[in-house]
Amino acid sequence: MLGSKPASETFDVIIIGSGPAGLTAAIYTGRARLKTLVVAGSSWGGQLMLTSQVENYPGFPEGVLGPGLMNNMLKQAQRFGAEILFEDAENVDFSKKPFKVVAGGVAYESRAVIIATGASPIQLGLEGEERLKGKGVSNCAVCDGAFFKDKTVVVVGGGDSAMEEALFLTKFARKVKVIHRRSQLRATKILQERAFGNPKIEFVWNSVVEEILGKERVEGVRIKRVDTGEVSEIQCDGVFISIGYKPNTDLFKGQVEMDEKGYIVAKDFTETSVEGVFVAGEAKDHRYRQAITAAGEGCQAALDAIKYVEEIKHRPK
Ligand code: NAP
Repeated sequence: MLGSKPASETFDVIIIGSGPAGLTAAIYTGRARLKTLVVAGSSWGGQLMLTSQVENYPGFPEGVLGPGLMNNMLKQAQRFGAEILFEDAENVDFSKKPFKVVAGGVAYESRAVIIATGASPIQLGLEGEERLKGKGVSNCAVCDGAFFKDKTVVVVGGGDSAMEEALFLTKFARKVKVIHRRSQLRATKILQERAFGNPKIEFVWNSVVEEILGKERVEGVRIKRVDTGEVSEIQCDGVFISIGYKPNTDLFKGQVEMDEKGYIVAKDFTETSVEGVFVAGEAKDHRYRQAITAAGEGCQAALDAIKYVEEIKHRPK
């Protein structure tokens, strides 16, 4: 089932990315009988593969494991005929039709493309960050905050995301310590005011995290003051890193219009600056960033792609 090479090299639609946006799009295009290829990537499934329990995806009253949910989406897409290629897209050419997507050294052609490559949280680059992911290190308070009831957590960052994470975490945690590298926040005033006014939030200014401590689980962080060089430790159970996101869109530079941060601009609902190329999920959305919103956008992009493909099939030559 997994990893076999597609029998053909021409498709109605190629979906690049296999998170909730990409696989939902594949379920819809497959059910519409479009010949569909999902270029899923060598590590497929997106950010949910890195989480444990997902408690806010509708339909699972007891929660569902992130990787389990993605496996189910994959099987559902395959059930409707989508072919899945576990290779990274290496190159694309949207300058002429049919569009071209190169993956695993093979050039695939298609009438339409859906970009669903998502975004990745920017990391601090510390050893413990990867090792303790899901064991106290998180990039998503909405996903993981509930596991820190009455605990002490730190949030790293001083932007809107960090303040939203910190405020959300106060619903559960006993104490939330925001570690920021400067003495002023970047976040908008209203979020700053809310954070300053929340008695559970404490600020640790002019400091960077040098090390995440703990063997099996997070036990604390070692921080360094950037002004004095003083090093100290903070005991905590969770570390939420919130220093920004980067859309995974480098592959599409020069092919479709993007904003200054690399998010793809949707012109007409889900259609990009190129007719026949659509976008869904965090490759364009820096606001909501939820599995359910990504899945919803995957559905929208698929409906637009289905309409487009049907239309061009019936266009006079
Ligand atoms: P951001 O605005 O780029 O802020 C990133 C924060 O992380 C900054 O405070 C930055 O410090 C800090 N940082 C960056 N690299 C770091 C490093 N290596 N070590 C320590 N700290 C580091 O990112 P964001 O908060 O994710 O927001 C992204 C965009 O989405 C923004 O335009 C934001 O307004 C928007 N957004 C809006 C909302 C909302 O409206 N409700 C919610 C979330 C996000 P410095 O301040 O020193 O640079």
